[in-house]
Parts: sequence; structure tokens; C-alpha cells
Amino acid sequence: PEVLLEIKDIKKYYPVYKGLFKKEVGQVKAVDGVSVYVRRGETLGLVGESGCGKTTLGKCLVRLHMPTSGEMLYNYGRSESSNGSAQLRDILTLTRHESFEVRKRIQIVFQDPYSSLNPVKTIYASFDEPLRIHGMGSKSQRKEIIAQVLESVNLRSDYMYRYPHEFSGGQRQRICIARALCIQPELMVCDEPVSALDVSIQAQVLNLMKDLQRQLNLTYIFIAHDLSVVKYMSDRIAVMYLGQVVEIAASDSLYASPQHPYTEALLSAVPTPELDRPKERIVLKGEVPSPIDPPKGCRFHPRCSKCEAICRTEAPTLRRVAGAKDHYVACHLADTLPTML
Ligand code: SF4
Repeated sequence: PEVLLEIKDIKKYYPVYKGLFKKEVGQVKAVDGVSVYVRRGETLGLVGESGCGKTTLGKCLVRLHMPTSGEMLYNYGRSESSNGSAQLRDILTLTRHESFEVRKRIQIVFQDPYSSLNPVKTIYASFDEPLRIHGMGSKSQRKEIIAQVLESVNLRSDYMYRYPHEFSGGQRQRICIARALCIQPELMVCDEPVSALDVSIQAQVLNLMKDLQRQLNLTYIFIAHDLSVVKYMSDRIAVMYLGQVVEIAASDSLYASPQHPYTEALLSAVPTPELDRPKERIVLKGEVPSPIDPPKGCRFHPRCSKCEAICRTEAPTLRRVAGAKDHYVACHLADTLPTML
């Protein structure tokens, strides 16, 4: 499948102010030069510890936060005017009117279904607003769309007249997914969509998301810190550390042969069903360094057990792993080819 969205060298820095006169004393480098792509119809997982920049990146993707620099090339599809070739546009340079159109194509589902819905509005009112803004039909047509989209997430259509407090956490998250779906997006950024839910409910919501993806040919960028959930959902996975992608690979390849020491440590913490063959847990030393002043060279070097002299001075770039097709890693010691992502 063709690439739907390709982001190139995205950076998002936040200024840090101090003192009475709010003097700028530095910048938090929340996202610092991330380049990834997602193909139409696939799920790209983004994983990493809290503070690694995955949520900031997700918000940049839907333009809730404007990146400090970089490119975000969106594939608008093929048309006669483009002689059948894909129309790619940098969605960070769009005019106000053009960005309105792209908002319809990219939607986000947040982690907390309790704060994502306006408590004083009925479900109907919450859904009708985006439909009206995007000019999607008459009042009766919009009502029909809302009924259909609620049914598509296995909720009764008459629930549209209820308020958010009348639903459980799992139902609310399904409502949030339905609200994102009602304007027929192509790409959904799912920011920890099940981490606030009970484990028993998580599987229902994940399976529903997979079914919807198949039916509607949706593309997901799935952000989570739970590696079992990410593996279940994703075709490819990007591992983030301190604002950068350190490894990206097809899901099976990443789990079968992780190349980056950080990925190895993350995977060693995932419980396995084989009780007779417990895995050896790799415990990382130290804390994640501050994103205001990240370490020189490889950002992971203060915590890496394999660190060598070069790691302290030269930052590794993402390169293709030798013998693997779609597997890239940023580590000086990995067996890589010169091919960059
Ligand atoms: Fe560890 Fe060096 Fe690889 Fe960084 S580049 S992960 S410090 S071995």
C-alpha cells in the first residue's frame, strides 16, 4: 500500500521561562527530529516511556500543536488533475481554509474518555457539531449518520439522547471513537485509547478498533506504553526515547530480534505466558535524562550497558539492519547498512 503520511525531521520545542521577568532559560526538546511514515490501511505503533515525546508527536500530527520545524507530507490521493500520481502536500504549510479540509481526514482519540466528552451536552449535540461544521448533510441526514456510527461501535442509536455520565468507561471510549469516525476520517491518531480502561474492557475496544479498521480501511497511529497492546494492534512499531525514534520495524521483527538496547530492555519487561521459561528482566540504570539538556552523542548512553567511547560523542542515525527488509535502528553497535530511513 502507498504511504498516506510521511513526517520528516519533525521537532517540537517548548521554551522554559524562569524568574520574575520570565526570562527564557532553555527549551524542552519534546520531539527532536522524528522521521516516520505510515502506509494506507496499516497501524503504526508508537511506544516509549512517559515523557519520550510520543503524545506530543501525536498532537503535532493532528496539528493541536504546531511543530517547531519539519515537514508532514499527506497523500491526498490520486486524481485526474495529477495525472494519476499521488498528490503529496506538506500539511504544515496549508492556509487556514486548507487545514480545515485536512482536519476532516485526520482525527484523534484521547486516552481519557471521562474528560473527552462535554458533560453538559448530549451525545447527539457532541456529534452534530463537527458534522455541521464540515457541512455533512441536512439535520435529518446528520441524525441518520449519528445513529449509524453509534451502531457501528455496538451502541444503540437512541443513546444519542443521553449524557456522558450515563455511560461506563468502555462505552464512553466507544462513543469517542464513534465521534472521531462520524466525519469519515482516513487516519486516526489513537493516544493511549485503552490505558484508562479495565483490562477486561480493553480487549473489547481493541477488537472493535480492528474491525472498524478492516471495514473502513482506516489507518491508525497507535500510541501506547503497553507493549503487549501495541504488538496486538500494530503492523509496524516505532520505539521512541527522549524525543527521538531509536528503532522502527515490522511488529514481528521487532519482537523477534530487537536491535536497540533500549528496545531489548522494554521487551524484557513484557510478561510471557510460558511460566516455566521466565525471561531475564533487563533493569535500566538511572532515570530518563532531562529533555532540556539531553546527553551528547547517543541519548541513551548514560543508561546503556553496551556503551562505548563513540556513543558519548556521536549521535547514531537510523540505519537499515543488515539482512532485514523493513527494520531500522539508531545504534553504533548494531549490524547496519548505510541505508537510512
Ligand atoms: Fe548503547 Fe551506544 Fe547503541 Fe547508544 S549507540 S544504544 S550507547 S550501544
